[in-house]
Amino acid sequence: MLEKNLEILEKYLPRYKNETIQHLINGEATPSVSGATFDNSTPIDNSFMGKIAAGDAQDIDKAAQAAHTAFKEWRNWSAADRRAVMHKIADLIVKNKEEIAVLESYDTGQAIRFMSKAAERGAENFRFYADKVIDAQNGSSLPDKDHINFTMRQPIGAVGIITPWNTPFMLSTWKIAPALAAGCTVVHKPAELSPVTANRLAELAHEAGLPKGVWNVVQGLGEKAGKALTEHPLIKAIGFVGETITGQHIMRQGAATLKRVHFELGGKNPVIVFDDADLDRAVDAVIFMIYSLNGERCTSSSRLLLQRSIYDSFLEKVAERVRKIKVGHPLDPKTEIGPLVSAGHLKKVLSYVKIGKDEGAKLVVGGCTDVAMQRLYDGGNFFSPTLFADANISMRLAQEEVFGPFLTVLPFDTEQEAVALANNIQYGLAGYVWTNDIGKAHRLARDLETGMVWVNSENVRHLPTPFGGVKNSGIGRDGGEYSFDFYMETKNIAIAYGTHKIPKLGI
Ligand code: NAD
Repeated sequence: MLEKNLEILEKYLPRYKNETIQHLINGEATPSVSGATFDNSTPIDNSFMGKIAAGDAQDIDKAAQAAHTAFKEWRNWSAADRRAVMHKIADLIVKNKEEIAVLESYDTGQAIRFMSKAAERGAENFRFYADKVIDAQNGSSLPDKDHINFTMRQPIGAVGIITPWNTPFMLSTWKIAPALAAGCTVVHKPAELSPVTANRLAELAHEAGLPKGVWNVVQGLGEKAGKALTEHPLIKAIGFVGETITGQHIMRQGAATLKRVHFELGGKNPVIVFDDADLDRAVDAVIFMIYSLNGERCTSSSRLLLQRSIYDSFLEKVAERVRKIKVGHPLDPKTEIGPLVSAGHLKKVLSYVKIGKDEGAKLVVGGCTDVAMQRLYDGGNFFSPTLFADANISMRLAQEEVFGPFLTVLPFDTEQEAVALANNIQYGLAGYVWTNDIGKAHRLARDLETGMVWVNSENVRHLPTPFGGVKNSGIGRDGGEYSFDFYMETKNIAIAYGTHKIPKLGI
């Protein structure tokens, strides 16, 4: 099966290896004004995967101008036409899902068993928002004695979308589909560590009939292309997914042009398991939510808070399974954990092994590079799934986002202690609770300082629901109607019935 996926890859990879991936500005593949490029590599062995245009302020300016011009046309498209083109984009994503899946997996190292669904999930995002176009402008009626007030929502203009390197295809559709449904035009700056599928996605959109300039892609480094995008006066808002510290930079960079920002940032999400829970299901969910997608997911349950009465037995069950998790080539369907996205990221994740040991936590499983895989693939970024136990809340291991297949376990005795441990942190993205006590479940759901809580469940997305974090995990919500709050302005219109008294001056 690995062989079959490698064959599929060979069909598509030459284009990316042999041709520089340019920006896509005003519907055209466009080299950087400066001519600059950077090399992209695959985390499997860090070998060359292709050249990518490296944008700067000049390229961002061209893309912003194109998006600004296209906005005048796109905002006036009928809902029916906009809906139709967005469904066509979804159709083309599904038609090309094989190419998207292998490229995404080869570029990011995230295993094909998860990436094979990336295209379908991307298409679902487009279909969901295609069907919401009809409601996008809706407002409310607020009548008064002398006036009828009503509101309507209108697209904010050209927006910048900046995405991270984890699950880049799916995440890009998640941000771009609602922007287009709202009537906004887009300049997308994908992450430099996984740039490949962004252009393919925008190409498919043009093939579907999206007008030129509505969706532009500028590749490049965050500090140059990303920064310029956040500073451009024609860009009205920035939808950003990435690290908390980058969000802080973006807020500063966008201050002069009063950018509206929407931030989906880091997390160190607790999964709290009480002794009255269905423990077998909890074991499955705990493991899935930190070791799937290489643990490189914002909603990963990276802190396991375990009630002391079940601490040893539950930990042993988790450890037994973690030892058997299969690290391997990301295109092998049997692989559960692929190589981490870059050598730099591997180094960062490894540094937390030392930090954990120095702090006195107990290394139960892993904590090292996967030497066998590294030998096989000549120094690829393979890391063994890692489990640290007996941590306490003051440790960096319990506070900082590692963003790898790396679980930290802390014991607790009481419900109050569990809540305190869960909340004693800068982050607040997601929380997971396992208990069969309905009152306790509701209390935890109320008291956890997170934007989302799942009870007796792993993370299962339902597209109409709000997605986002509190504290240093984000500002704003995506999903359903919530995305329109960001991409649109609400205008109030007051019309007099014509009978009220108008104050007279100068008589
Ligand atoms: P990152 O912040 O390093 O980079 C994200 C994007 O920002 C990239 O495209 C990068 O080029 C760009 N960028 C960097 N510096 C910039 C600047 N000064 N101005 C403008 N743009 C700039 O994040 P990453 O390492 O690519 O992604 C991992 C992080 O993303 C993790 O912290 C993870 O938790 C977070 N994440 C959050 C969510 C969520 O929904 N909350 C989802 C996925 C990932």
